[in-house]
Amino acid sequence: MTETVVSSALTPKEHREPSRLWHTFCDMNTVAKGPEFVVARAEGVWLWDQSGDRYLDGTASLWYCNVGHGRAEIADAVHRQMTTLDAYTVYGDFANAPAMELSERLAAHAPVADPRVILTCGGGESIDTAAKLARSYWVTQGQPQRQHLISRTGGYHGLNGFGTSIIGMERFRSGYGKLIEDTSVVRHDSAAALEAEILRVGADRVAAFFAEPVIGAGGVFLPPENYFTDVARICQKYGVLFVVDSVICGFARMGNWFGIERFGVSPDMIVFAKGVSSGYLPLGGVVVNGRVADPFWNEAGNPFLHGTTYAGHPSACAAAMANLDILEREDLFTVSREVETHLDSALRGLADHPLVAEVRSGTGVMGAVELTEEALNERGVTTAEVFAEARTRGVIVRPVPKALLVSPPLVITWEQIDHMTSTLSSALDAVMARH
Ligand code: PMP
Repeated sequence: MTETVVSSALTPKEHREPSRLWHTFCDMNTVAKGPEFVVARAEGVWLWDQSGDRYLDGTASLWYCNVGHGRAEIADAVHRQMTTLDAYTVYGDFANAPAMELSERLAAHAPVADPRVILTCGGGESIDTAAKLARSYWVTQGQPQRQHLISRTGGYHGLNGFGTSIIGMERFRSGYGKLIEDTSVVRHDSAAALEAEILRVGADRVAAFFAEPVIGAGGVFLPPENYFTDVARICQKYGVLFVVDSVICGFARMGNWFGIERFGVSPDMIVFAKGVSSGYLPLGGVVVNGRVADPFWNEAGNPFLHGTTYAGHPSACAAAMANLDILEREDLFTVSREVETHLDSALRGLADHPLVAEVRSGTGVMGAVELTEEALNERGVTTAEVFAEARTRGVIVRPVPKALLVSPPLVITWEQIDHMTSTLSSALDAVMARH
């Protein structure tokens, strides 16, 4: 039904007036001249635009559609929930069955001791929740001076107040005046750099360290060998809370529930979103270690005065439960490991291309194809051009300043992976021919 309404409401892309939609992360001066790329329909790994042209979704939208598009059983579960209890707050003692069941299910699988689950509407909100919780936890421990938050170069943690303040990419921080104070960024590839920073700030002033299992939006950077064991040990040594941002890495993208299991460590908090519902409805949250939660749950009467209107939204939680049913029933955890291997070897085939400096992949279903400095600086190639060439050829990849990123739905086949990488290769050829 939606499909008919959407396509009949739009004239062909060449003739449309630009809409009034202000796109995210976008130079509207260019896009407002049109045509916008209107996605009309999706099924599995495929998208169709309003003219009926088909594209392979090599990015699972924005890293989230782990089970693939068009899963009727998620829509049915949401429909059932909406006609039973559409929405209700979890403020005070209010609860609802989907929110409780989802919390139980996440707690059962999280590599966190005695877990409690806070629900939100997305990743950035959850990061801000974790940052505030970390700082308040130390206040409850009689250490209010422990406020400092450390994050990593290339780390992306959403763009809410705390997320913007701890992001490891300078371009997202400037132009907003003074951000939240007492934060710093350390090199993402060195546990020793974390320890040095804790010592520089003073161990008794550091509240928490934030890290993605594999850095995603910052350009797919894999951790060095033993990085997370070292980091977990360092955090423990200095009493720093270890917060893992699994927004991209969770829900089978790394072959397990939260990504971090891969490295055998147990954090104090895990931030999640995206794949928890495969994006069918917006949802995120934080799994909190019982030790960190207890000061707010005990009899001292010290509530965590934080939360949002739509936290624990029953219809979003029902979407997540149906999505997790698919992950488990189709064992997308195992499938993901196989896809990871094939994607890795297919992407490595691009490493010899004259425009390509490096391919990063092999841990999780995600990869980066980074262009050479010569291509970017001397030839004047942009990743946006490569993205546009690939899209014209029917494949969606994601351009960041130096690299093209891929993170397809986990249900992608070998043939589709090969189609994605060979199209990316042709797009690189076409761009090279122009420069
Ligand atoms: N953390 C990570 C690792 C992310 O990749 C993102 C979004 N790409 C976020 C947090 C923010 O999530 P949201 O956009 O839902 O606020």
